[in-house]
Amino acid sequence: MRPAANRMPIPKKIIFDLDDTILDYSAPAERVWTELYPVYARKAGVPVERLQRAVDESRRLYWSDMDRFREGRLNLRQARRIFVRAGFEKLGLNNPALADEMADSFSREREIAVQPFDGAIEALEFLKADGATMVLLTNGEASIQRAKIVRFNLERFFRAVLIESELGVGKPDQAAHRIALTSLGAAPEQIWMVGDDLEFDIRPAKGLGMRTAWIRDPVHNGESLADVTVPSIRNLIKYWKNSQ
Ligand SMILES: [Mg+2]
Repeated sequence: MRPAANRMPIPKKIIFDLDDTILDYSAPAERVWTELYPVYARKAGVPVERLQRAVDESRRLYWSDMDRFREGRLNLRQARRIFVRAGFEKLGLNNPALADEMADSFSREREIAVQPFDGAIEALEFLKADGATMVLLTNGEASIQRAKIVRFNLERFFRAVLIESELGVGKPDQAAHRIALTSLGAAPEQIWMVGDDLEFDIRPAKGLGMRTAWIRDPVHNGESLADVTVPSIRNLIKYWKNSQ
């Protein structure tokens, strides 16, 4: 058994990211694209591999620019229309209506495909029952983020739900983390930030002096900045319990 001085109590003040931390958000998106390519290749009359390559390239190009990324995540439906249209144009397809239909199908289907990670809800239930005060800090548009929060009944866990489009500031701007920190009313070193993105969630929280838990992307092999690196919030609870 560890000496009492080394024991770490289960945290009582925690900031959670939403997408890819509580909800499995990115993996289902790839599945939805894969389902849509053959449907729209047929409708457009082009080989599926060509459509896939063209739209994939425009999608990556669109999201690779930080300004566009900020703008796009605040209007996802429009962002997807822009890069799907660009993909169609690359193939010489002059059919913006069909491109928009594909983009909108993705927007609809990907929200349906989102689910909480296994054990994520139980982890939040455990922390709440254990007396933790938690805040949700998420980027993106309130209408889309709130729909997921309502669908999975997540609001009950959080003292505050802070969404980029309502705050007027988003991660990785430390101002967003500061708002979450203030709403918890505790010193930074008493607060944990839990998130999947090293640059958006972890680095700014570290900079403010918080403790950090990185929910590691399974394909990411880089060194972690975070105090704790775990594959899921279910594992984070195990880690905290085992530190008792
Ligand atoms: Mg995330």
